[in-house]
Amino acid sequence: MMLSPEALAEGLRLYGLHLIVGSIRELPDGGAIFAARQGSERRIGWIGETSPFPAPDPRMSMRVQEHLVWIHPWTWAHYRILRERLPALSPTRCDRPASFGAGDRLGMATAAQIAALERYPVFPVLAQQSPRELARTGRDFRSVLLDAAWGVFASGFAGPFGADADHLQDDEQLRAAAEAGYSLYTFDLRRALARGPRPWEALSPLARSVVAELADRRVEAPQGPRTLEESALRAAACRYEPALEEVVRGAEILRDQGIDADLEVSVDETEEETTPEAHAFIAVYLQRRGVALWSLAPRFPGVFEKAVDYEGEVERFAQAAALHTAVARTFGGHRLSLHSGSEKFRILPVFREATGGRFHVKTSGTTWLQAVRVVARAVPALFAELYAIARAHLEESRRDYPIALQPEALPPALPDDPEAALADRAVRQLFHISYGVLLRERGPAIRALLEAHEAEHFTAVRENLERHLEALLK
Ligand SMILES: [Zn+2]
Repeated sequence: MMLSPEALAEGLRLYGLHLIVGSIRELPDGGAIFAARQGSERRIGWIGETSPFPAPDPRMSMRVQEHLVWIHPWTWAHYRILRERLPALSPTRCDRPASFGAGDRLGMATAAQIAALERYPVFPVLAQQSPRELARTGRDFRSVLLDAAWGVFASGFAGPFGADADHLQDDEQLRAAAEAGYSLYTFDLRRALARGPRPWEALSPLARSVVAELADRRVEAPQGPRTLEESALRAAACRYEPALEEVVRGAEILRDQGIDADLEVSVDETEEETTPEAHAFIAVYLQRRGVALWSLAPRFPGVFEKAVDYEGEVERFAQAAALHTAVARTFGGHRLSLHSGSEKFRILPVFREATGGRFHVKTSGTTWLQAVRVVARAVPALFAELYAIARAHLEESRRDYPIALQPEALPPALPDDPEAALADRAVRQLFHISYGVLLRERGPAIRALLEAHEAEHFTAVRENLERHLEALLK
């Protein structure tokens, strides 16, 4: 590009556009592309004789020195065209032993998350939302990916990155994520499991043969060998086969569409701890049905409360993680996923060690809490108002989030010091689950405040994720 960033920024300023300097990318054909803002609107800038986007299209063009510069809105249609030219903007399958998911419920923090994640040897999963989160934030799989891709584009990040359609429970959700181009699909078995087990006599011959194949097999865990018990395998087959049939069907939908993706199965939100027999059955059954498992999220022992550290015996967690790692190595080589990774500093290093560095960790609420922290510091009156709204809607917010939070644990008013307020476990938990009602009631005010304090918001998000990554990887 012959145009200097300074000259470009200067030229754009005349049109009310703010150049995001780190976003400029040179294109093979001699042009260049960049991200800009016009007020709070996101813009694509294109330097070249012709625009890549077909007309009619809302656009403006200008001359900066002798260069023709096109400005387009950042829309789904434009992103689709752009990612054909810039593969770094497309989510891809994971290519590393360690991976980390950083959900961004507001769709404003991806660039800050990248700033943390790119310093560590992890594959970043930058779009990661569940249908539960989508419903509460009024977003869809497209808009989540569009926001994450904006963070990639604006930060100049060269990728690769993943996009996780998290906790999918039906085909319609799966198809929507597939249409948007997600690279990771998390099949949550909870709803299917709630329909109850199938009688042994009604199981498929394949399920029974998997039980026969696995019975009495030894798994070599660090704490000693463990033999898979036939009775537990039979129970797992009865319980899991109906749910796994849905995973097989989902994998077929993706295959029919020519989508090559990472597939995760999650049972982390079920009541009972996942046994090694259940894990082995899930892995081998899916293999026999032609489904390659990328990761399994078991239900680990101990209490995983939102917004607070792990509550349970770390040693028990370590043993379970090591045993599940041994099962994964013996039956397929997939990785283990740890969900609800937000604030779980006590077990993050243990998880890395137990898995031998082959793992996936998901966080989401912790990034949202940083946004709340920025609001609290910047405008205490808005923070107090949000707290009152959240308290009034506690029952609604907790409907999808089983947490131990008791209403009487919440103070009637918050201390003036925002750090002291957010150090209160009950207050933190309340904010963690209240994002839906708060964005519904005060979304524009929250967003405007975060835009006005973008540097502070990004620093808070980056430093918080770095604390997680340090604990996990150092
Ligand atoms: Zn989960």
